[in-house]
Amino acid sequence: MAASTARELRNFVDGGYVDGVRTFDKRNPVDGRLVARVHEADARLVDAAVGAARTALAGPWGRSSVAERVAVLRRVADQIETRFDGLLAAEVADTGKPVRLARKLDVARAVANFRTFADLASAAGTDGFLTDLADGRRALNYALRRPLGVVGVIVPWNLPLLLTTWKVAPALACGNAVVVKPSEETPGSATLLAEIMAEAGVPAGVYNVVHGFGPGSAGELLSTHPGLDGVTFTGETGTGRAIMRAAAAHVRPVSFELGGKNAAVVFADADLDRAVEGLCQSVFANTGQVCLCTERVYVQRPVFDEVVTRLSAAAGQLRLGDPADPATTTGPLISTGHREKVLSYLRLAREEGAEVVAGGGVPAMPPQIQAGAWIEPTLWTGLDNAATVMREEVFGPVAGIVPFDDDADAVRLANDTRYGLAASVWTRDLERGHRVAQQLRVGVSWVNTWFLRDLRSPFGGIGLSGIGREGGHHSLEFYSETTNVCVRLADETRTGAAA
Ligand code: NAD
Repeated sequence: MAASTARELRNFVDGGYVDGVRTFDKRNPVDGRLVARVHEADARLVDAAVGAARTALAGPWGRSSVAERVAVLRRVADQIETRFDGLLAAEVADTGKPVRLARKLDVARAVANFRTFADLASAAGTDGFLTDLADGRRALNYALRRPLGVVGVIVPWNLPLLLTTWKVAPALACGNAVVVKPSEETPGSATLLAEIMAEAGVPAGVYNVVHGFGPGSAGELLSTHPGLDGVTFTGETGTGRAIMRAAAAHVRPVSFELGGKNAAVVFADADLDRAVEGLCQSVFANTGQVCLCTERVYVQRPVFDEVVTRLSAAAGQLRLGDPADPATTTGPLISTGHREKVLSYLRLAREEGAEVVAGGGVPAMPPQIQAGAWIEPTLWTGLDNAATVMREEVFGPVAGIVPFDDDADAVRLANDTRYGLAASVWTRDLERGHRVAQQLRVGVSWVNTWFLRDLRSPFGGIGLSGIGREGGHHSLEFYSETTNVCVRLADETRTGAAA
């Protein structure tokens, strides 16, 4: 791997980089190398960031037109393209994910997020009604869209730039100012994005970044700050609970994209080549660290053994290694701490009676990267939904495979969870595909595909998987307040009406 020197990552407040009260080390999960010293924000700095955002809203940004903001968003997208390689390097250094994945997914999506929400904002209308009451009174009702205000953006480490821009782009399109709290594991790309914002003409104070941890640090300080008008959060369900308690104290809106325990349902009539390829992606993409990843695979009995054999073989073909190597398909987990959590679930699975059919442990890697957070892509059979490991989110490259008999059985098993983020159905019978996809209690239901996203469509989860929807006009709704204006018009004189 190319040697590089550790960077200093500072907070970004009111258009300038600011030192924190202390620094913490960010290490690369591939080999444990120090990639950055990160400046942690304290209460005073978080307060300054929220204050800068409030001040920016009182200035020209707060009076900007949709057309002006759309132009800014397009410049940000262009600038991300110009700085593509720098963002790619920051993302790969923080996460250890393969360059080829980050190029196609993370950084490309950041560009798409800004362009999509520029398009959506420029085309968005608001409600308008010509009111015509039975008693003859008439009025014009129309809704004004205003920014929500100062928005706290708290994001996780698995898709740092993708998720930050998924929230920041619509927030800015609607005229808000944001304070972003990146994960302590992935501080790089949000910090670099600050420079890009400034280059694209985003005024000082509109985009701020505070670094630190969750409880007792920047995350908690931001989510409890009285100066926020709303919070958008992606992360674990347990963290969502803490942020919701803080939001309740101030009665402010939240948008939550939380954890999942997602199911795939493979019918015997499926194109098994496509299904196995799709499952291999949905279980192992980004080392299983995508909220949408499949951790429960239900397979109809006649093809159960074949799917287990073929998916296990596909897992064995994945290439773990140096992110820069184009042959690498799979990086490490985000940290050795997270690997401990995943390994503890694998121990539990064995204790609960699982038969491990692929992987199951820590792989032998070349000496120079053996210290990384590597884990084998893992599959097991032999557990039903009663097992803890089939109920709790592991967030690693792991899945349990379970047989089922018919459609009703598949739907019952897939829906037997308190989460409800995503599911995929694999069948050649499209009627069945529609029927089953509609019966699954999830926010995103795929048929014969996985992770195929249209950014205009609603995204979010049911139950423990979240509150609200983002994507398309749903994002514009969350990041706006509306005021309805009602103007009385001259009364209608109805021809033929009784005098
Ligand atoms: P996490 O909840 O531990 O952390 C997310 C962010 O919240 C981090 O920035 C963290 O510092 C901050 N935080 C932690 N405790 C906090 C507190 N008490 N107050 C305020 N902020 C706090 O999540 P993670 O481990 O970074 O990410 C993995 C989780 O994210 C998984 O559960 C995954 O399913 C979920 N996720 C969901 C989606 C989705 O769209 N539904 C997308 C990606 C990830």
